[in-house]
Amino acid sequence: MVNYQEILQDIYTEIASSENEGKIASYIPELAKIDANKFGICLTNLVGREYHVGDSDERFSIQSISKVFAASLAFSILGDKIWERVGVEPSGTKFNSLIQLELENGIPRNPFINAGAIVVADMLITHLKHPKNDYLEFVQKLAGENSINFDFSVVDSEKDYGYRNAALINFMKSYGNIENDVDEVLDFYFHSCSIEMSCRELSRAFLIYANHGILASTGEKVLDKSQIKRMNALMQTCGFYDEAGEFSFKVGLPGKSGVGGGIAAVFPKEYSVVVWSPKLNKKGNSVYGLKTLELLTTKSGLSIF
Ligand code: GLU
Repeated sequence: MVNYQEILQDIYTEIASSENEGKIASYIPELAKIDANKFGICLTNLVGREYHVGDSDERFSIQSISKVFAASLAFSILGDKIWERVGVEPSGTKFNSLIQLELENGIPRNPFINAGAIVVADMLITHLKHPKNDYLEFVQKLAGENSINFDFSVVDSEKDYGYRNAALINFMKSYGNIENDVDEVLDFYFHSCSIEMSCRELSRAFLIYANHGILASTGEKVLDKSQIKRMNALMQTCGFYDEAGEFSFKVGLPGKSGVGGGIAAVFPKEYSVVVWSPKLNKKGNSVYGLKTLELLTTKSGLSIF
């Protein structure tokens, strides 16, 4: 039996005392207000046991980790039709890059870069009755926690500085890959990024990706086995901006990061794990988060490879 509590405690102690040259994301001013030294980890296994250390109960802006939930909800509603408007290839470019969109006729490479998540947001607006509310309820259900909410000051901050996302959506609209009003889609997209969750809540919500799509608390099948296989494959290949190869190489788990400093990862049929530490490397991934997960798979001797 792997002693996860001991492993996490060792990792936390080792990393918390190490130098962190990362920088907090400041292009969304509201995110820059967070205490840079926050550091929390939570691992939840398939039987619902939680192992956690540090600031694991404090909520933070999940940012792009939300793209996994949004793509999952769209996949569960539309099935394989979603892949007609968004691809499944790693981008190898920055998360908010415009370059590939012109070469590829307004079809984003994957649902985890901004352009892809904006197309997914458009699909959800078309298919949900009360898009923001229904989406929030979906995330609350996955985490089993009804108090999870948007952080409205982050929403406003994203809106005030969202020039690039506005450029992406208008560009895709010109190719006919956005059905709804651009402001409505952006409003949904910014809200989805601004959801606040703690490491413990996120880790519970990610358990479906380790558990064949089944919500452990109720037995409900949120996604089927094949859909979960595909979401995990996407996280493996596209979950870390243009550092997905490096993450695979060093950690060996599917996962997704966000510029709020969170990283969620899963070991299929074993556990989900979430790390939060706001200082990011140049590619936009949490410095301590990457280190933590590399040490976790090294010390436990378990990875999917
Ligand atoms: N809301 C952020 C943006 O649109 C998400 C970025 C991220 O976490 O990758 O830029």
